[in-house]
Amino acid sequence: MTNRSAGPEFRQQIRPIKDCSACQGKGKVQGLFYEMVCDDCLAGGFVDGTTGEALTTEEIILQLRLRLNEATDQIRFMRQTLADYERPGRGPGGAVYTGD
Ligand SMILES: [Zn+2]
Repeated sequence: MTNRSAGPEFRQQIRPIKDCSACQGKGKVQGLFYEMVCDDCLAGGFVDGTTGEALTTEEIILQLRLRLNEATDQIRFMRQTLADYERPGRGPGGAVYTGD
């Protein structure tokens, strides 16, 4: 039996996205009387970067989550780098401040 399922690993990839042109990346449009969810991007504010087509809600969530994970990793890395930098003897921030 052949497993034809691509599997979650295959599908969970960051794909190029670009700002939705209908709402300029805001995810909402100004209606006659009030703001409405942008139909072109389902409020995501972005569309497929290659085809310019709308993504499914599932794909929007996936793309946001993958980018959030990446951003969280970057923040963690920068915090660690900053902590290393501020360790005594390691730089300007490392000077021992005795207070007043
Ligand atoms: Zn839009």
